[in-house]
Amino acid sequence: MQNTDINQVDLQKCSRCIYDERVPSIYFDYEGVCNYCRQVESLSEQYGTGQPKGEALFSVMVEDIKLSGRGKPYDCIVGVSGGTDSSYLVYLAKVKWGLRPLAVHYDNTWNSAIATMNIHKVLNGLDVDLYTHVVMNKEADDIFRAFFLSGVAEIEASTDLGYAYLLRKVAAKYSIKYILEGHSFLEEGITPLGRNYFDGKYIQSIHRQFGRVKINSYPLMTFSRFLNSALFHRVKFIRPLWYIAYSKENAKSFLSKHFDWRYYGGHHLENRMTAFYHSIYLPQKFGSDMRNNTLAARVRNGTLSRNEAWAEYNTQLMIEDELVAYFKKRLGLTDVQYQQVMETTPKNWTNYPTYKKRFERLRPLFFLLAKANLVPMSFYIKYCFPAKAPK
Ligand SMILES: [Zn+2]
Repeated sequence: MQNTDINQVDLQKCSRCIYDERVPSIYFDYEGVCNYCRQVESLSEQYGTGQPKGEALFSVMVEDIKLSGRGKPYDCIVGVSGGTDSSYLVYLAKVKWGLRPLAVHYDNTWNSAIATMNIHKVLNGLDVDLYTHVVMNKEADDIFRAFFLSGVAEIEASTDLGYAYLLRKVAAKYSIKYILEGHSFLEEGITPLGRNYFDGKYIQSIHRQFGRVKINSYPLMTFSRFLNSALFHRVKFIRPLWYIAYSKENAKSFLSKHFDWRYYGGHHLENRMTAFYHSIYLPQKFGSDMRNNTLAARVRNGTLSRNEAWAEYNTQLMIEDELVAYFKKRLGLTDVQYQQVMETTPKNWTNYPTYKKRFERLRPLFFLLAKANLVPMSFYIKYCFPAKAPK
């Protein structure tokens, strides 16, 4: 039984949040505060989050977005997952800011029914059009399977990257210049890079080695596609919740009340692959439990005490019945194969070819692109600096 009082735990830990020495690339300053707390502090300062400065910066952007969309059917894209942040962002965009968003959803076919219903309830209620890209099961599952067999942690990499590329493609198709994303560093933090790396080369190299079917329809974001989109199409990525005041709890109650939106019972559980990744794969194979990212963020923003967050971090993970059986069946894995992968020593992203070194070499370029919102600032912060992979 782990100790549920953070002050009694024999690990070096941050004096402000609940991160401890096990978090990748962590260090503590003279006040005992971790670098991730300092990162959030400096982002809040820079973006004026929830302050008049942030609100003012963002209202200028809203005007630019409107201007860029004149004479076109849409002025921005909002990526939707059925979760709290993106659902609420559609509401803000349409009702509060008077924008004309097109909602875009990347369906990796592992969605829970609740997520799909949530998307439709909110979008119908707001009369917002939806563009859905449904992946070809056979290809997408083959990439998932290849990642699982390769022994690395990032089995969801193809969804995250496919989604990022889809947003860029749809923006190009409809000549939309702005993409709004529902991320909030105050509610989620910036997840440490650790076992959380992905790029097009990584997907390609792992699939080449462990895949079985040819990839035709999966939207693979190669380096040249990434750079072309940023430099020539110049679509901008804006994260409104980095500027304005936002409370996830309030957003949840608002959505339930006005759209009959339903909470899916746990962070990331809106998708069965995500649920497998967070509640089974990471904890059981890598001894890693990413709930500390959200919990640490909530301690920083004052919605939980350090001890409450620590106690919650040490509760059992919720595991959906039959999730492992479903995972094995869909990916065509025998019990023996599954067991073997779960028991072998983890690999990490440095064991396979990636674009990481190239991103680091081009850091000055990506700094300018991030400043101009042409690539996400979190991409610059996480990917363009040397980082050690976890052991
Ligand atoms: Zn901290």
